[in-house]
Amino acid sequence: MTSNTPPIHQPRPSLLFFHAHPDDEAIFTGGTIALLTDLGVGVTVVIATDDHHVGPIGAETRRLEAESAATGLKVDRLVFLGYPDSGLAGEPAPGSFAATPTEEAADRLAAVAREVEATAIVAYDSGGIYGHPDHLAVHRVGTSAARLAEVPTVYQTTVDREHLHFVATHLVGRAVESLTRSSADGKLAGGSPTVLIDITIDVASVLDRKRAAMAAHISQIPPDSEAMLLDDATFAAVYGNEWYVRSGPPTVLDQLNTS
Ligand SMILES: [Zn+2]
Repeated sequence: MTSNTPPIHQPRPSLLFFHAHPDDEAIFTGGTIALLTDLGVGVTVVIATDDHHVGPIGAETRRLEAESAATGLKVDRLVFLGYPDSGLAGEPAPGSFAATPTEEAADRLAAVAREVEATAIVAYDSGGIYGHPDHLAVHRVGTSAARLAEVPTVYQTTVDREHLHFVATHLVGRAVESLTRSSADGKLAGGSPTVLIDITIDVASVLDRKRAAMAAHISQIPPDSEAMLLDDATFAAVYGNEWYVRSGPPTVLDQLNTS
């Protein structure tokens, strides 16, 4: 029996996650990525920096670790833009990601977004989650690339500031502490207030895969690091939620909202 009905072309949803450093994708969005790929969503991860300024072995290590993390999360494509890390302190080094003109990096990210037909770009909140210069650049470049490639939806990865008050061991909390100590007014605060957060995703069901993805970044989060030594219950309390602010129409990512 034949049918005259043409096959319905249902484009597979495609989301592009843009991150500053290898390990950010696991820490801030690893659970979301695992939940999305389990749903059959195509996920592309683009990482801006790779440490190649500290030598080829460092860059190779960081890339291999990110590839291992991406495999566990069933990421379709992992792309490195290859910029040097700007470092935390002082002026970003010339040529580093944070010192790169926004349009230049956005052109490259937009090209990837077009190629994978991204329906949304996931970047960072306007404070760069905790103020790292490369994270601030992810906000600028991600937003700008979405405009260039006409991607209708942008998610800003963030952390719930109120949640952080209870979770002193979160890597972000520690980063906030160190940044606050180094800022003159001591007023810097990471993340976003709860009322501004559109999507909270409980990633408990894939937490083992998130933890494995974080652990894959051995050079950054070694087995004897504070995060890796947490017992399961504490790890879940610290890393069991992921947060986003959305602009543009909702996508498949909103279906994961558990708040
Ligand atoms: Zn980072």
